[in-house]
Amino acid sequence: MKLLTTKNMLAVLATCSVLVGCGSDDNTVATPDERSLETGKVKNVILMIGDGMGAQQVGLLEEYARRAPNSVLASTTTSLQKLADEGRMGLSMNAPMGANPSLVVDSACSATQLATGRGSISEAIGLDDNGNKVQTILEKAKAMGKATGLITDTRITHATPAAFAAHQPHRSFENEIAEDMLTLGVDVMLGGGSRHWVPNTDFAALATQLNAPSHVIKKSKRSDDRNLIIEAQDAGYGLAFTKAQLNAASGSKLLGLFDDSAMNDGIEYTHCKNGTVSNKCSDEPSLQDMTKKALDILSQDEDGFFLMVEGGQIDWAGHVNDTGWLLHEMLKFDEAVAAVYEWVKDREDTLVVVTADHETGGFGFAYHKHEIPEGKQLSGDGMNGEEYKPNYNFGSLDTLDKIYAQSKSYYDILSAVNGDWDFSESTPAEWKVAVNASLHADFHVTDDESIAIAARTLNDNVIDGHKYLSVPDLPLINDFSDFYVYPGDGDPSALISRAIAPEQSVAWSNGTHTASPVPVYAFGPEAVVNQFSTMQHHINIGQKLMGALISE
Ligand code: MG
Ligand code: ZN
Repeated sequence: MKLLTTKNMLAVLATCSVLVGCGSDDNTVATPDERSLETGKVKNVILMIGDGMGAQQVGLLEEYARRAPNSVLASTTTSLQKLADEGRMGLSMNAPMGANPSLVVDSACSATQLATGRGSISEAIGLDDNGNKVQTILEKAKAMGKATGLITDTRITHATPAAFAAHQPHRSFENEIAEDMLTLGVDVMLGGGSRHWVPNTDFAALATQLNAPSHVIKKSKRSDDRNLIIEAQDAGYGLAFTKAQLNAASGSKLLGLFDDSAMNDGIEYTHCKNGTVSNKCSDEPSLQDMTKKALDILSQDEDGFFLMVEGGQIDWAGHVNDTGWLLHEMLKFDEAVAAVYEWVKDREDTLVVVTADHETGGFGFAYHKHEIPEGKQLSGDGMNGEEYKPNYNFGSLDTLDKIYAQSKSYYDILSAVNGDWDFSESTPAEWKVAVNASLHADFHVTDDESIAIAARTLNDNVIDGHKYLSVPDLPLINDFSDFYVYPGDGDPSALISRAIAPEQSVAWSNGTHTASPVPVYAFGPEAVVNQFSTMQHHINIGQKLMGALISE
């Protein structure tokens, strides 16, 4: 296969652009690479979704990478930056479109709109704006004979991957989503969430039978007796439950489930990589490991492939307003981008698009009035003897290193306070101990601040039967409290972020999603990627991705 460099490709484009089918006018059959140049079509499409990765979240990664005094990326650029430098960038609106529109999107609707190029409805999986099942790009690729893959560091049945390979009225039907994925026959499925694949059973015996670690096979959310892992094996899938098993897997179909629910969070992953904590590091692959393996397997299909890779916990860090966790999730996702970049950088037959489904949390570094720095003398000849003394605190770069130094995610802090995440009786002292054991010393909370973190208020709008809002009391959030909707879950942690906001120079605006346009990185043949360099909507991205796929 002839591979063209970008420079060569531009030369070819220049000579071919005025001709119709210039690759075949001498009666030779155009290679896929040549066709990519003429038609804006490619053999392979790789879509990477940073869930909740708005421009602000990318900004945190880039600020850390470039300007943290001790940045772990000091000697290199991020892989997102490489895509930006060598590809194209755009922005994309992402709200629900069509007959039942809204202003703000959730991950299910957003992924559905990306996957189908059609308007969809909130919290639905693979349905159009009136609730009809519609073809996804993964299904289209499969119908074209291509191999298909889905990867996430959350549950493989979670909303984002689900929208590419399932059709269900609500994202919470994860058992049914697993069945849809298996029925469709997605070739490579890698992530967490075994609890939706196994029945209630003797988990220790099943783990032994599957040669799986006990932390992977320990729980079921199913109400029937189906063991979808065994069904997958019977249907020809290889199975993997550890990094070693993932690396050793061969064959063209692979189901890898590495946790009963979500995989390691970004902070755990960083520590595991550096050998600094043991928790469940043992044998869990990284998002990058899974991405490399999927590319190995899928690229053996001569018809090409479609692969979706999700950094799913960027969103989770956003919902709990956890800046340290967010940074580590962005670093983890960027490693997966690196694996894709290395695989694709010299190819001309593959389109890579990296984007987000929406922004989460209204994150932002912000200037403030806390500890305004002392004035100092500058040597510049424009100062005219005046002291350099801005009126506000515009934030110090060493804050970036302190944010990186966080040793536990807010999820783990919540678990340290109460293993069941029931905070109705939690005390300020418990919060103070748990928070201060996990944050950089400059972000430690005081007694007064821990009182604010533990504070509760009556829920004056109990919604019976609601997964989160049926509780009698809530964390006391004084600002934008209607935008904090997970009271037994992440909301108390928003109070931690408020306590340490001035020390971090960070302000979060909510515990849900915002409708900000999100970044779009596109890498591949010029004729294909140029169309992404615009202000678009996710429906347009879905249409462009589907339109770019070519049959062999
Ligand atoms: Mg997601
Ligand atoms: Zn979310």
